Amino acid sequence: MTNAQRRLSHLDVLISGASVAGPALALNLQRYGARVTVVEKSTDLRAGGFAVDFRGHVHREILTAMGIWDEIHARQTHMGRQIVVAADGSPRVDLPSEMMSGDVEVPRGELAQIMYERTRDDVEYVFGDSIATLTDTAAGVDVTFEAGAPRRFDLVIGADGLHSNTRRLVFGDESRHLRFLDHYVAGFEVPNDLGLDRTGRLYSEPGRAIALGNYDGDPDRAGALLVFRSEQLSYDRRDMAAQKRILAERFAGMGWEAPNVLKALEDADRVYFDEIAQIHVDRLAQGRVALLGDAGYGATMGGMGTGVAIVGAYVLAGELALAGGDHVTAFAEYESRIRSFAKGCQKISGNVGPFFAPATERRIRSRDRMYRLLSSRLMGGFFKRLTEKAATDIKLRPYPV
Ligand SMILES: Cc1cc2nc3c(=O)[nH]c(=O)nc-3n(C[C@H](O)[C@H](O)[C@H](O)COP(=O)(O)OP(=O)(O)OC[C@H]3O[C@@H](n4cnc5c(N)ncnc54)[C@H](O)[C@@H]3O)c2cc1C
Repeated sequence: MTNAQRRLSHLDVLISGASVAGPALALNLQRYGARVTVVEKSTDLRAGGFAVDFRGHVHREILTAMGIWDEIHARQTHMGRQIVVAADGSPRVDLPSEMMSGDVEVPRGELAQIMYERTRDDVEYVFGDSIATLTDTAAGVDVTFEAGAPRRFDLVIGADGLHSNTRRLVFGDESRHLRFLDHYVAGFEVPNDLGLDRTGRLYSEPGRAIALGNYDGDPDRAGALLVFRSEQLSYDRRDMAAQKRILAERFAGMGWEAPNVLKALEDADRVYFDEIAQIHVDRLAQGRVALLGDAGYGATMGGMGTGVAIVGAYVLAGELALAGGDHVTAFAEYESRIRSFAKGCQKISGNVGPFFAPATERRIRSRDRMYRLLSSRLMGGFFKRLTEKAATDIKLRPYPV
């Protein structure tokens, strides 16, 4: 065991959620010898989701320290141009890949898989369960589960996403923290009817949009991303049939590829459906419990939620290691370092709904004019610098290695 690995070898940590933030923290804590358990309510590691990207030197530095930079590169999408089209499929605006896909882009499910593979031998993953109650005591957190036996942990980290269970149990009702941004997003797989080859198409009508993209070069499959403007809906998040019905209603009568996409939706066995929303909490930690990733500072699409989650996981583990496991010091440092960084990323994603699905025909046309401007070489560079500025606006401390 190295000195770094001894730093947290006395610590038992429970992480709720095994998507991006959870496995990223597990991977970082593993480097310091902590005993980590991850509980995930889904019965297996969830696949799917659109491609996520990394940009700038901070992401690169952290992914390199985590030992996964090369593998991410090996599995990158190599996504090419995205073209905004009219109803007949003719191009309206051509967006270069640097604008949309960052420095390196990888499918979300593959990123989760990479980190899961790197940790599964040393980390205990418990699928198909969820935290039922948390009691924070001076000696540890007493945790009961929906299915498993009660256990005590030194620390509990909520990495369970926008609708975090941990946040609800410790910080209060979701309505206090979730800011709904008037749109919904859905993602699922469709047949590659357009024969796309690592390129994408986007079609918008007032208040709704469909993007199709071929990310992995598989000639038969493509990903569909649907965005629509809406009042906040009440539906059962576990009821996929209900979500399919909502989508079918909202996209009925739409032009371009919509009829084919809706047909594929009927057969899709995995559908990601969620609000476009952000999370704003007063504090990221209470006692021995802290929030990480979307659970604590969800930014939604365009806010680099995945990049922020990775940075958060790295900083949280690093601060715990520096403090020798003293959570009071480590959580305070984590909070002070990550909060304004995460807010900066949230700022650039506030308009993502109207960007995909402007509310009127006029706004669609003015968005396209703006896209055209942004895709010019000069403005493209400006756009890249803007997103990169938010992604790099944090000074990393040297953590033990
Ligand atoms: C299947 C899937 C597809 C996605 N697709 C997209 C997409 O297309 N576009 C986009 O912008 N973002 C998408 N996201 C969200 C994106 O992954 C996050 O915004 C970002 O990567 C930050 O990740 P996170 O780990 O903090 O949160 P999330 O990725 O949301 O992960 C939260 C995890 O916690 C689990 N969980 C939830 N409740 C509980 C509970 N009670 N107990 C235990 N575990 C729980 C969830 O099953 C999930 O695995 C997707 C997420 C998932 C899980």
